[in-house]
This record gives sequence, C-alpha cells and structure tokens, in this order.
Amino acid sequence: MSVFFIALGGNLGDVVASFRSARRRIAQLPRAEILQSPLQSSLLYRTPPLGPPDQPDYYNAVISIACEFEPLKLLDALQSIEAAHGRVRAEHWGARTLDLDIIAMDAAMVDTDRLSLPHPQMQFRQFVLRPLCDIAPNWQHPRLQKTAAELLNALQQAGEPTLPKGIAW
Ligand code: ADP
Ligand code: MG
Repeated sequence: MSVFFIALGGNLGDVVASFRSARRRIAQLPRAEILQSPLQSSLLYRTPPLGPPDQPDYYNAVISIACEFEPLKLLDALQSIEAAHGRVRAEHWGARTLDLDIIAMDAAMVDTDRLSLPHPQMQFRQFVLRPLCDIAPNWQHPRLQKTAAELLNALQQAGEPTLPKGIAW
C-alpha cells in the first residue's frame, strides 16, 4: 500500500463541482481509500494563473489516498478522470477544467518519460505546498530532504506573498 498525494487544479467552468466529482471518483478507484474520511482533504485555494495571462484564477487543492496501484496505473486513472471532466490538452499551462498531478508517492523517486516523482515543480509552487501542508506538513521530499512545511516556509522567506486563506469544499 502506498500513499499518494494528488494535486487538483483548474480554472474553467464550475471548478469546485469538478473537484468534488474528481475526489469522489478517486475515492472509488479499486482498492483506493481516501486516507482521512472522504470529506477531509486540503482546503481549496484560489490562486492567480501561471503561464499565459488573461485566464481566470485557478483553484487548487491536494488530497491523499492509500492504494496499491502502480504509479503509472494511477496516472492512467487520473488522466481518464481528467478526460471525463472535459480536459483537452491544448496550450501548455493554458486554461483547463481539471488537472490532476501526482505530487508524490511516499518517498519514491521516479523518473520516466510519463512520470516524475516527486513532481519536479512542486517545491516552487505555493499552490501545491500550501494545500499539501494542510494534510501532510511532515512529509519529507526524498531528493531535497526537506519537509513540505520547510519547503513552503522557504518560498515565504524568499518574499513570495502567501496565498489567501483556503476554504472547505
Ligand atoms: P501540466 O500538468 O504540466 O500542466 P499536463 O497535465 O498536460 O501538463 O501533463 C503533461 C504530462 O506530464 C502528462 O502526460 C504526464 O505524462 C506527465 N507527468 C510527468 N510527471 C507527472 C506527475 N508527477 N503527475 C502528472 N503528470 C506527470
Ligand atoms: Mg498535469
């Protein structure tokens, strides 16, 4: 059984409805269980867009699940959930209805064409670290040897404005 952290992001359509439905579908994956109860995950954060400007603000959250999937099988499952929510891969970093990224699988290090773990950008992104800290502040990055809380703190020390307070969803 491995613990996976999954980041949800999106900025088109009824994002909160998409997040709730994605969380339900992830909880129903075979042999997956949301670690806390299905109604507990990180708070939901609203963040300004990265990449092309002139797109709506993003929503971001992180959930954790314990499951026996191989990581690539979980990626397949997440991509089919994205597709079911109307995700079309067009512009890189462009607006999207639902993005599901695997942030980490325990302390595993994976480096293949389709999958890098921990997610190579996670340490630069408050919109990942902030929600991750809601549920796993003590998770330790296996390459950087720092906890989620330390990584978040480093960004804030570097002068990045903190995200507005999250909301339950
Ligand atoms: P992005 O998430 O960077 O906005 P996409 O969701 O379109 O872009 O993902 C592009 C590719 O990134 C996916 O097809 C997937 O194979 C690859 N990828 C590599 N590592 C990860 C990861 N940790 N989680 C999700 N996708 C990943
Ligand atoms: Mg993605």
